[in-house]
Amino acid sequence: MQFAHDTRVALTGAAALVNTRPWPGSSEIDAAGEPTTDDLRTVADLRAFMDEWGWTGAPPRTAAEVEDVRALRGRLHRFWELDEDAVVEVVNELLREYRALPQLVRHDAWDYHLHATPSGAPPAARMAVEAAMAMVDLVRAGELGRLGTCAGEDCGGVVVDLSRNRSRRYCEDGCGNRAAVAAYRARRAAPTTSTT
Ligand SMILES: [Zn+2]
Ligand SMILES: [Zn+2]
Repeated sequence: MQFAHDTRVALTGAAALVNTRPWPGSSEIDAAGEPTTDDLRTVADLRAFMDEWGWTGAPPRTAAEVEDVRALRGRLHRFWELDEDAVVEVVNELLREYRALPQLVRHDAWDYHLHATPSGAPPAARMAVEAAMAMVDLVRAGELGRLGTCAGEDCGGVVVDLSRNRSRRYCEDGCGNRAAVAAYRARRAAPTTSTT
C-alpha cells in the first residue's frame, strides 16, 4: 500500500507532535503519571515546530494557541491506543468539530494536495484536521497497524511505520541510534569467544 505524499508527511508530523511530550512507558513520566519534560511550552516552541514541519499559513502568536495545540496531543495520541471503531469516532469528531472542508490546493513547491481548513485557521485546527484527514486514508486502507509504540527502552513514544517492509521500530527521537549504540557496547562488553 502506497500512501500519498501528503498523507505520509501528515502522519509523521502528527507523531512528531504527539512526541513533543513524554507518554506512559517513558522515564520522563513521574509517579503521578505527569510528564516531567515538555518540548512544547511557548509560542517560540510552537513556531519552531511548525517551521521544522513546513507549516505554511498564519504563524502562532498567543499562549492560548499553544495551549490548544498542547491539549490536542492527548486526542491525537488516542489514535495509537484505540481500536478501529474508536479511532473512527475520534477522526469524525475532529472533522466535525473543526468543520473540515476538503479542497485541492497547490502552493509553494507542492503539487495538488488536500487542505481541509483555511490557511488562517488556528494551528490546533489545522493540525487536528490534517491528522484526521491522514487517518481517513489509513483507516480506509485497513492499515492502522502502521501505528506503533517505540521499542526504545524507557521511551513510550509513538511510531508511524510507513516503510515497505514494516521494519520501523523506533521513534524519530534518536531511540534507534541509542539502541544501536547500546547493542554495540553490550557486544564489546561481552566475554570474548575468540579462539586465540
Ligand atoms: Zn499544503
Ligand atoms: Zn523512542
